[in-house]
Amino acid sequence: MIHSNSILKHRRVLIVDDQEINRDVLGMILEDGYETLFATNGQEALDCIRQNDYDISLLLLDLMMPVMDGFEVMERMKKDPLMQAIPVIVLTSEKSAELKALQLGAADFITKPFDLAEVILARAERVIELCEGKELISSAEHDSLTGLYTRNFFYEYVNRLYLYHPEQKMDALSLNMEKFHMINELYGREFGDEVIRVIGKAILSFLSETQGIAGRFEADTFEIWCMHRDDYAPLLETVLASLRDSFPKISLHVRIGVMPFDGATEPLLMFDRARTACNRARGDYQNPLVVYDEKLKKKEHLQQQLIHDLQAAVEEKQFQVYYQPKYNIQCDPPKLCSAEALIRWKHPELGMISPGEFIPLFEENGMIHVVDKFVWKEAAAQLSRWDETYPTLPLSVSVNLSRSEMFDSTLVQQLVDLVKENHLDFPRFKLEVTESAYTDDEKQLLDVVSRLRNAGFEVEMDDFGSGYSSLNMLSSMPIDVLKMDMKFVRNIETNPTDRKLITLILDIARYLKTPVVAEGVENEAQLAFLKQEKCDLVQGYYFSRPVPAEEFEKLILKELQIKRNEP
Ligand code: C2E
Ligand code: MG
Ligand code: MG
Repeated sequence: MIHSNSILKHRRVLIVDDQEINRDVLGMILEDGYETLFATNGQEALDCIRQNDYDISLLLLDLMMPVMDGFEVMERMKKDPLMQAIPVIVLTSEKSAELKALQLGAADFITKPFDLAEVILARAERVIELCEGKELISSAEHDSLTGLYTRNFFYEYVNRLYLYHPEQKMDALSLNMEKFHMINELYGREFGDEVIRVIGKAILSFLSETQGIAGRFEADTFEIWCMHRDDYAPLLETVLASLRDSFPKISLHVRIGVMPFDGATEPLLMFDRARTACNRARGDYQNPLVVYDEKLKKKEHLQQQLIHDLQAAVEEKQFQVYYQPKYNIQCDPPKLCSAEALIRWKHPELGMISPGEFIPLFEENGMIHVVDKFVWKEAAAQLSRWDETYPTLPLSVSVNLSRSEMFDSTLVQQLVDLVKENHLDFPRFKLEVTESAYTDDEKQLLDVVSRLRNAGFEVEMDDFGSGYSSLNMLSSMPIDVLKMDMKFVRNIETNPTDRKLITLILDIARYLKTPVVAEGVENEAQLAFLKQEKCDLVQGYYFSRPVPAEEFEKLILKELQIKRNEP
């Protein structure tokens, strides 16, 4: 039976409950602000919506009812384009039903026995506003590719679940595709979309067994809010298996970060941490599942402090450039010919911080140019001073370029200006670019490196052999010097394969007329092997650790005292 009260109000709220007392209570609470309609089961509710030309602002829906229950009503509404837009608040006495209701598209829930009248009114108002506002700003609630929630709605629902039931044990997860931009580039956007769709479907299938909700944003970021569980390997496996089934010929990888329920952290912060954990797994195909724990927390705090302290560090001159020599070992005795500029941070509280701690951090948050520019400027000025003081020893200095610099359109001009201001020779102000940058975005990199070389700079490929580049890639790369990754040298005495690889790299480089620098040489045996294999240049603790400019000058003075026959 359907009846409505007689006062015509602007917005209609349909109250669906088989218990008369519930209909009465809710009707009384809402009748001052809304036109109230009533239905006693799901079938009546759907009829009522149609009879009112779908002009219903809100449905208050009981779940347990005869004839047709609330879940079925929601299922049917979901399939009907005209009904889809009507928001539903679920009336429930069971906590476990809430997540399922949200999965079916409920916008909120009211628990029985009913909350205070004001609370119910406020929720009804909020849901109607949200829904009407959503039409106004035309921001979709669901992502069209996957059907998962869009960002704002996802967080809105997460917050609401948390607000009403902070005690419910929920985990926050962040899932990301490895190298998604490369997939788009290599196989096209449509393929990329298909990959996203497959992941979305896999997540939904996981959620059909574990209660929770999921959203997708920024192309390949998926976030999940679900009932706590100890192990997410099954989720990872579900996603990977779907990818394998759908794209058997292509190896696709995802990573997952988990912030488990701890009873103290708010959802937004939980998702921040899940993302932090997810970032930790970046590129680590062996361990793509990372849980946020105390160790990660400590590291994150340290990183936050470093980001916070960066500005002061620049102003208070806490950064210092150290220099590590490169020697030509085909001369006898070895000849000092170059220096790599390496940054050091003398932090007033934390002491000396290694660049390994802060370079990747600042690369990620885009602040690296502050550090890099400081080093370039210092190194250029230092080389100019050494040129003046020791004109008979034309040293070279190399600086490192972060991969993000490669996307700075003013990079070439900045470096050209710097060299000119300091009256340096272009080829003696060398630039080191790490190998992984070459594989990240090959086209962009080749373009920038070519422009740098056309301007007169020499470019060294740093850490060669640490990443995925292959030997035959070398011939197509525009580089002047190859810096062999330290791992080869480290294993000279123990690993015959690495010895063979060194010989091979040196052979190819010789054929291409590209000089090679071996990094990380620490002892006599390593040096002897490299010398025998005709490696030209060596850098490592055997000769010197990176040292401040004043100390490096001692090496220069020593070099100037040596009388040798040039080879
Ligand atoms: P890299 O450019 O490959 O620099 C060589 C690293 O190897 C330096 O570490 C150096 O101290 C270390 N090393 C040299 N010889 C030996 C040795 O015989 N044994 C061992 N175990 N290590 C040796 P450092 O100074 O800690 O720098 C680490 C990385 O941080 C650098 O690797 C570079 O990628 C980056 N970096 C350093 N300074 C800068 C900078 O100013 N800008 C940018 N973008 N990156 C920098
Ligand atoms: Mg380097
Ligand atoms: Mg290196």
